Amino acid sequence: MMSRFKIASEALGLDEEVYNVLKSPAKQVTVSLPITMDDGSIRVFEGHRVIHSTILGPSKGGVRFDPGVNINEVKALAAWMTWKCAVVDIPYGGAKGGVCCNPREMSSGERERLTRAYTQSMIEIFGPDRDIPAPDMGTGPREMAWMMDAYSRTQGMTVNSVVTGKPLVLGGSLGRTEATGRGVMVTALAAMGKLKINPYNATGAVQGFGNVGSYAALLLEERGMKIISVSDISGAYYNENGIDINKAILYREGNNGSLEGFDGAERIEGSELLTLEVDVLIPAAMEDVITIKNVADIKAKLIVEGANGPTSAKADKIINEKGIIVVPDILANAGGVTVSYFEWVQNRLGYKWTAERVNRRSDRIMKDAFEKVYKTSIEYDVPMRIAAYIVAIDKVAKTYKYRGGY
Ligand code: NAD
Repeated sequence: MMSRFKIASEALGLDEEVYNVLKSPAKQVTVSLPITMDDGSIRVFEGHRVIHSTILGPSKGGVRFDPGVNINEVKALAAWMTWKCAVVDIPYGGAKGGVCCNPREMSSGERERLTRAYTQSMIEIFGPDRDIPAPDMGTGPREMAWMMDAYSRTQGMTVNSVVTGKPLVLGGSLGRTEATGRGVMVTALAAMGKLKINPYNATGAVQGFGNVGSYAALLLEERGMKIISVSDISGAYYNENGIDINKAILYREGNNGSLEGFDGAERIEGSELLTLEVDVLIPAAMEDVITIKNVADIKAKLIVEGANGPTSAKADKIINEKGIIVVPDILANAGGVTVSYFEWVQNRLGYKWTAERVNRRSDRIMKDAFEKVYKTSIEYDVPMRIAAYIVAIDKVAKTYKYRGGY
């Protein structure tokens, strides 16, 4: 995050003072959370919330429950959220939170107590006009419902706009589940338009078949693209005639969430998917999968980053030399935070939008953001990734200058 932030700040000619303001998080809070476990013992968990910036508005960012959570990771992810919100032009700053724990080894009751304790400890941080959490790794609608309830109890009223990613009955938004994959589809089609690739003649490969990857694959298939390979943790699956994505989703749903044993394609090595001869490659699983080790073998014309940070900073340079266009993560996967913003807007309006309205408005935001980043990449003669940071940093820096400081 820092290396790209630095390159973009230099390209933009950002003055040093503003650079220093934007590089440091505005606030970081670390709390100890003593929790009574089911066996009666008390365990102490460490939780963090980092607010990177509130220059554009209340800060927004997920809460991660994972054994790997540490303050440095949370700080980097919080800054990432600032740039992601700014690039799609929604009125939010960036934040991130996390608790170092293994939710897979905890009972539902233990996770509930941890979620409520974390919320209670952050009561002065969270708020619909201050800082709005959302799900991330290890958390989902269930945890968001507990957070919303825990916060609301301290206020003496229901405040559903304090978190997003809630279940529909609690004020979650229609369209949120598929929002990130849908944004990947919209930005992929926009980029294909610039490269004069007709989706009906194009092939794609999608790494990761979870929330982001499966919807991106399905929606691109619906728009004519032949998805010849998909993968998940169980391995990669290849069919040169195109994989029936609906069938793969149904298979996964009936098979404990895994593609293991899927018979609509032949099994290949997971790493092979990334180097297939396709028009569009969509890494939508995890970070650091395109690295200095495999970048030379990548044959796709276009990479659309559904996952956060799938390309290492060193691999970036070679990708650019090879002339591969990358729609960067902070743009490509911002459909999720955009619809989270719509959830907050609907909660504050006390009103519910139809799925059509949500999709139409998020598609427009994603398309506009793509065009702005594309134009900036031409204007500054930089890759789309740096252009996305330029758009984001420029917006935050200009706002900061207008607002002023002490
Ligand atoms: P998910 O847990 O729903 O799915 C992850 C998928 O990746 C699963 O199919 C899993 O089997 C697969 N996977 C894991 N390790 C793999 C490996 N080594 N090789 C191939 N596949 C592997 O997660 P998700 O919500 O789809 O998120 C995926 C990525 O997108 C993450 O980087 C996440 O941070 C990012 N992201 C998600 C959202 C969102 O709204 N869900 C928004 C922005 C960014």
